[in-house]
Amino acid sequence: MNLILLGPPGAGKGTQAQRLVADLGIPQISTGEILRAAVKNGTPLGKQAGPLMDAGKLVPDELVVGIVDERLKEKDCARGFILDGFPRTIPQADALAAKLKASGKAIDHVVSLEVPDEVIIERIKHRAATSVEKRSDDTPEKAQARLKAYAEQTAPLKSYYAKAGLLRTLNGVGALDQVYALIRKAIGA
Ligand code: AMP
Repeated sequence: MNLILLGPPGAGKGTQAQRLVADLGIPQISTGEILRAAVKNGTPLGKQAGPLMDAGKLVPDELVVGIVDERLKEKDCARGFILDGFPRTIPQADALAAKLKASGKAIDHVVSLEVPDEVIIERIKHRAATSVEKRSDDTPEKAQARLKAYAEQTAPLKSYYAKAGLLRTLNGVGALDQVYALIRKAIGA
């Protein structure tokens, strides 16, 4: 199954993706995690992406499209994959569709986790205060910038995928188990 998890930062995409990995046996592809690793390792990609990530802005489409293209070629993606944090713009979605089509694949479901901004800000404050692995973009100010980028550049993907008949919109507020059950139901798994 080829899935996309959509939703604002702090919506719980990463956590829910990890459960899906465990239950469905397909990999999670998180562009945010790949980029954070590149920053940590000081690679040219990391040097380019780091300042943008720190400012809560999106990194250029061509960089993330290249990352995902490479990742999707790996063997473990043959039976399916969970995209977490990609695509985040319409050009990224177009590039993904073209790439998948060329290899005879397609997206099966796009799950959008709906969480209001106020709840997101509270979650991010909590994550910043309790997380062991600190994220430099997990501050309330930077969260605002990330929410703005989401509203302006990523939210339009909802109508993009609704038109394609792929969008499954869920209430992302609630206990993790409850949200997970909604996701499983939405994807028929
Ligand atoms: P995330 O862990 O998904 O919240 O991503 C952290 C940061 O990495 C984002 O705020 C962006 O700066 C960058 N990033 C991750 N995925 C993408 C993407 N698909 N397009 C552009 N920037 C991205």
